[in-house]
Amino acid sequence: MVQIVSPVIGTIFTIFLLALWSYHRNFTYVLHLAGGATFYTLATSSPIFIAPEGIGRNTFLSTALYLCCVTLLTEGCLKRKNNNLNYLQTAIILTATLIAAFYYRYFDNSLITRIYIVSFGCGSLFAVAAHRIRPSRYDHPVDKVIFWLFLVLSIQLILRPLLTIKPGEVDSNLMAFSDAPFWLALRFSLIVSAVLIGLALLSAVAVDITNDLKKQSTTDALTGAYNRRGFDETASAVISSGRFHPICLIVCDIDHFKRINDDYGHPAGDRVIKMLSELLTAHVRRNDIVGRIGGEEFAVLLAECAPSGATGFSEHVRALFEASGTEGIHGMSATTASFGVADHRPGETLQQLMSRADRQLYAAKNSGRNRVCSDRDNVDSLAPA
Ligand code: GH3
Ligand code: MG
Ligand code: MG
Repeated sequence: MVQIVSPVIGTIFTIFLLALWSYHRNFTYVLHLAGGATFYTLATSSPIFIAPEGIGRNTFLSTALYLCCVTLLTEGCLKRKNNNLNYLQTAIILTATLIAAFYYRYFDNSLITRIYIVSFGCGSLFAVAAHRIRPSRYDHPVDKVIFWLFLVLSIQLILRPLLTIKPGEVDSNLMAFSDAPFWLALRFSLIVSAVLIGLALLSAVAVDITNDLKKQSTTDALTGAYNRRGFDETASAVISSGRFHPICLIVCDIDHFKRINDDYGHPAGDRVIKMLSELLTAHVRRNDIVGRIGGEEFAVLLAECAPSGATGFSEHVRALFEASGTEGIHGMSATTASFGVADHRPGETLQQLMSRADRQLYAAKNSGRNRVCSDRDNVDSLAPA
């Protein structure tokens, strides 16, 4: 009766993982995790459905199934972090474990040794995975929980057979084996570990889906920069944190963009928008924020940046955009953009800062476009020659 608990747990986690994946199919790593849960179900079912006389074949099969389970679970966890298993290393562990299990079945039949072997093989896979998914200080708590579960499980799988089994104690008497303390402890800890790992992995998938939905609602689909909502939220948080002063805000807008759309078509216009976005994001630093806040209008919050730095940044991007903005768009004449710069004043909100930068953008437009205006400078001081 107790035996049925593990396959039921494996099946429940498989169903939950597949259900989450069906809502979010771009997370392919969830399929690996679901595959791992399915192999767990198969591995724990095989002793139930195969007759006792086939016990040797049966344990050999479940060894292979457990190894598949752990391989898929660890590959899923690594893929979640945009990583992969080292396939050569994994193939060596799997082959060595299977050969050893085969040997101790068909040449020197010893159930105890086979348990050592599968335990050691799975423990090694978990140990390698734990090493590869070491979390950093900034990782989500669920990442830390998965790491610690993998680490504890790997230590337990590698050490426990060595500490619990007394060689020769039960191997000679298979009937007594099912009641051996080691066997009961193994079964119980297998269930507890499976539930803990299953819950941690389900939580990780849920956290990833929530983060992805949040990201989608704050990201511009065309450029990958923040959209207006994302920019406002993130920039406001940076300003109110008080940790990044001096702060400057730049707003920039492509000149005569309507003409680009009219003359070269909407897709060409989209490519020009993407070019400006790429230039801006390529030149910002870690704590800076780039957002597409309108059709062909961007805002950039520069953290720990003096007004002269913000003006220099704008002038640099303006010149690059003028030089490269039409690359690859056949027949298009130079595209340009205008920039407005304002530096944050104590107590000012993002909206107040934005409207001062906007005034500078209008000044740049009104004084001929393709230029940078800052509320610290004269309107024409940075006009290109
Ligand atoms: P100005 O130099 O004064 O900024 O003139 P402009 O033509 O750039 O300004 P205006 O605001 O009149 O035109 C912006 C155009 O941008 C109008 C709209 O059709 C176009 N637009 C808005 N969003 C997108 C988009 O996602 N893709 C493309 N291709 N065009 C867009
Ligand atoms: Mg424009
Ligand atoms: Mg505009």
